[in-house]
Amino acid sequence: MDIHEHQAKDILAQFGVPVPKGGLAFSPEQAAHRAREIGLPCVVKAQIHSGGRGEAGGVKLCKTEAEVRDYAADLLGRTLVTKQTGASGKTVHRLWVEDATDIAQEIYLGFVLDRKSERIMIVASGHGGMEIEDLAHEDPDSLVRMVIDPATGLVEFQARELAFRLGLKGKQIGQMVTTLRACYRAYRDLDAMMVEINPLAITGEGDLVALDAKMSFDTNALFRRPQVAALRDPAQEDAREAMAADHGLAYVGLDGDIGCIINGAGLAMATMDMIKLAGGEPANFLDIGGGASPDRVVTAFRTVLTDPNVSVILVNIFAGINRCDWIAKGVVQAYKEVGLTIPVVVRLSGTNVTEGRAILDQADVPIITAGTLAEAAEAAVAARPQPVAAE
Ligand code: GDP
Ligand code: MN
Repeated sequence: MDIHEHQAKDILAQFGVPVPKGGLAFSPEQAAHRAREIGLPCVVKAQIHSGGRGEAGGVKLCKTEAEVRDYAADLLGRTLVTKQTGASGKTVHRLWVEDATDIAQEIYLGFVLDRKSERIMIVASGHGGMEIEDLAHEDPDSLVRMVIDPATGLVEFQARELAFRLGLKGKQIGQMVTTLRACYRAYRDLDAMMVEINPLAITGEGDLVALDAKMSFDTNALFRRPQVAALRDPAQEDAREAMAADHGLAYVGLDGDIGCIINGAGLAMATMDMIKLAGGEPANFLDIGGGASPDRVVTAFRTVLTDPNVSVILVNIFAGINRCDWIAKGVVQAYKEVGLTIPVVVRLSGTNVTEGRAILDQADVPIITAGTLAEAAEAAVAARPQPVAAE
């Protein structure tokens, strides 16, 4: 789960990271009021769940209150397309107004989970400002990496060594040690997946201050971090994925037209492969999980149908914990409640398969049934509306 920059700064500041003074605004008047409180010049920043806002016109240094108001009016409600958002972009609903900093140097600082060492790893560079992907491409030699032993945590000498390797001097070293250890503790104590400060600026006076902050969290741990879960902003999420998550479904939108309703991530991957092999393209990945009730199947249908590209739905269930009769009931119920107008292909196997097939056979709905996964994929591809041949 991602959070906004202002939320990440708030959290990191509580752990001891130096951040500029700032305030939140939801209207141009509020933004101007914030600028008055903070003092000019100030920086007005679009709050969306994405980096690359600077390049997309979402960050601006303003010298007057009128400038703040005009820029805020221009930004609020606008959809920003950045390198990270994809073509649909993210809509700006709130702004962060912050005391402007005189930047002498920009440092990149990231904390990620290194799956190879199974530890938290720090990645840093003295040439911050640009995205880590560009940095890795354009200036890989500047990158400093350090793996943290969970038994000791990030110890002081290690943090000092990192500060030295970045070429920091004097008071910056102590400030860097404080910043690094604060980020590490925030990462560890809040079950984060990523903490990124880019840029961590060295000011004209030689002090360190976090000008940008990004955090994302392990959704599997949110149950024990209610203070983090409360920071979720559904307005920044893909509507289809948010709806699915609300109902405990794992959904990922894709570009094809064959909607998929499947149990288990492995079977979902295999089904997507079989669809491609049969010459089709999946519209989504959807795992309804185990023990799915008929209502849950209906929700899965509703979720898949929110994608206007879907022209056929393939239901593929290999029931272990699931029950084919519940799935079949759900499919029939979906037909009646959702008002399906597109073809549906169903392949059932496993627990209560005989009962499940009987329900589908007896129901007065035009479902295409298939015996094997390969047959189901081929039937789904064949059931798509045929494009009208060009003259
Ligand atoms: P991002 O583009 O989404 O990563 O947003 P950032 O918060 O990193 O802002 C983009 C750029 O704006 C930064 O790399 C800085 O160079 C610049 N910037 C942000 N805050 C300030 C500030 O207070 N003063 C100045 N001069 N530049 C700033
Ligand atoms: Mn940034």
